[in-house]
Amino acid sequence: MNATYKTKAYSAASATSPLAFTAIPRREPTPHDVRIEILFCGICHSDVHQVRNEWSGVMPTVYPIVPGHEIVGRVAKVGPAVTKYKPGDLAAVGCMVDSDGACPQCRAGQEQFCPNMILTFNSPDKHLGGVTYGGYSNSIVVDERFVLRVPSSLKLAGAAPLLCAGITTYSPMRHGGVTQGKKVGVVGLGGLGHMAVKFAHAFGAHVVVFTTSPAKQEDALRLGADEVVISRDANQMQKHAGSFDFILDAVSAEHDLNAYLQLLGCDGTLTLVGAPAKPLPISAFGLITRRRSLSGSCIGGIAETQEMLDFCGQHNITADVEVIPIQKVNEAYERLLKSDVKYRFSIDMASLKSQ
Ligand SMILES: [Zn+2]
Ligand SMILES: [Zn+2]
Repeated sequence: MNATYKTKAYSAASATSPLAFTAIPRREPTPHDVRIEILFCGICHSDVHQVRNEWSGVMPTVYPIVPGHEIVGRVAKVGPAVTKYKPGDLAAVGCMVDSDGACPQCRAGQEQFCPNMILTFNSPDKHLGGVTYGGYSNSIVVDERFVLRVPSSLKLAGAAPLLCAGITTYSPMRHGGVTQGKKVGVVGLGGLGHMAVKFAHAFGAHVVVFTTSPAKQEDALRLGADEVVISRDANQMQKHAGSFDFILDAVSAEHDLNAYLQLLGCDGTLTLVGAPAKPLPISAFGLITRRRSLSGSCIGGIAETQEMLDFCGQHNITADVEVIPIQKVNEAYERLLKSDVKYRFSIDMASLKSQ
């Protein structure tokens, strides 16, 4: 049995319980492990889904759950075989903490598609049994292969959301060839969408934001959009018909994808990163008439996540965050569900240390 130590955390005891103060065990670092003192942890929509067991069909929640997969902190201790990190280094952990390292996906650097990938929380914990516990906690212990470097120039509160919202939008745009001179759409201006706008702008693309809310126009332009289209206005939509190279759709609510497919030019791609609960109807004509593609994407591999963080360091990109103490986390969940945040909550973990 592995040696353990206790660390403070916030956990939920059931699908209807609020998150509350607790102490959880972490393993003492094994030879390849890094122990990180967590400074900030972002709040992702998937934290809320899993705390409330809303994905019970795909990944039922095991209670108690400690969510959080947008983690930045400082290395406190390393195992004797660790070579990439030393105490005092800034470090980050995203959505994954392990994979088999041997399958074709792992060998291609796409650990996110490994059949044996271990998520940062609510995945089987092979060291301690039970499930993995995430970042709403004062410390975490992770194999160095899944630890990332954080450029020291970045503000840490805003860097935390890069680990999920950042890579979720960076990866599909890189894969989709978003570069200088391309016309790129971003559907929905929330936690994911606002990162997509920043990246697309930094890649040199012409960026068009689609939103249902005219009130978001000014903010979209501030974040780097060149144009804003109110998606409920059929005339405005029609003006862009057949003109996009790539559109990233970050909306989780039910909506009409065909309206966006017809905005793509020849060989254009519409990529989904939001996850509407129900199947969406697609018109085949919208695809075949211009050889358009409809695809999906989910986070990114470890090497690409590091590339994204380094890119953010070079271009000074972080998420726009509202920093909260962990004692306000339940309130933050309610506000998140009303989209009442610009654009991501980041929990200051010093608030947990002093509780
Ligand atoms: Zn997430
Ligand atoms: Zn694998």
